[in-house]
Amino acid sequence: MVKLLKAKEAAEQVYDSVRSKVERLKKEDVHPHMAAVLVEGDPASLYYAQAKQKTAEKLGVAFSLHTLPSHTPENEILQLITRLNDDPSVHGIMLELPLPGHLQAGCITAAISTLKDIDGVTPANKLAVVTGEAGLYPATPQACIQLLKHYGYNLEGKKVTLVGRGQTVGLPLFHMLQRENATVTVCHSRTPDLAFHLGHAEIAFVAVGRLHVVKGAMVHADLTLIDAGINETEEGKIAGDVSPEAAMVAAALSPVPGGVGTLTTAILFQNLMKAISLQSKEAHRK
Ligand code: NAP
Repeated sequence: MVKLLKAKEAAEQVYDSVRSKVERLKKEDVHPHMAAVLVEGDPASLYYAQAKQKTAEKLGVAFSLHTLPSHTPENEILQLITRLNDDPSVHGIMLELPLPGHLQAGCITAAISTLKDIDGVTPANKLAVVTGEAGLYPATPQACIQLLKHYGYNLEGKKVTLVGRGQTVGLPLFHMLQRENATVTVCHSRTPDLAFHLGHAEIAFVAVGRLHVVKGAMVHADLTLIDAGINETEEGKIAGDVSPEAAMVAAALSPVPGGVGTLTTAILFQNLMKAISLQSKEAHRK
């Protein structure tokens, strides 16, 4: 029977810490404020933005949702981001991805202030993940590692297989796993034999975005799986990259929903607190 690595408790611990930081900041007349930029087109993005809004309300964090029509030209989005960068009442900026096809995500994410970049999408923060320097790291890869640690896993020396090398999850996760001293094999769409690489692993992270790409025959009874995938089933439900058959075989699995995604939202607020601290240090430095 698979052990389910649910994220609720780990997320609550993060929220408790955020809540007490918010209270402390408010006493110092700092009112944490997260701004989300949503270019319409992806229904899931609206859902995620609204979920963050509800969480912000519970934490006493101000939240502003800036919704733009799907045909908005790039320069208008850049103007909005510049305004949010320059607004001292805004501490964190979250650009909801994916963007409509006519927009270049790279140009737009690069415009976000490095110190307000709470999902680690700017070039400076991407580099910080590689070098290990201080910065705002992307939330989902942090959630993958933090979830395992919450359940007492130590990654040092472990044989880890990472499925997916995408910019959002797989690639930054690869660098973070190096710093945990894991021995990492990276698989992707051109990897001919996923089963072989999962067969040698003690822990596997899956961040592909294809429903049930990890099949039952690919996994073994000692494998722990962290599933970062988010997919929609034919019935309109949310499901991960790991199939139910694989879940039956593996030792432990993070569920979808209720796993990585749950902790990712909490870590965005943790990053907001970190952003406020970095902004305050920068203000004192000037
Ligand atoms: P991405 O940029 O599209 O990357 C997908 C990766 O999967 C690529 O490296 C691709 O290989 C690889 N891949 C595709 N088909 C494969 C196959 N059959 N076997 C092995 N590898 C395959 O995706 P992403 O933005 O990193 O996101 C990955 C997943 O995480 C998505 O489901 C996304 O929705 C989810 N996500 C979850 C959260 C959360 O909060 N839980 C947050 C962000 C994203 P190539 O490099 O060769 O193309």
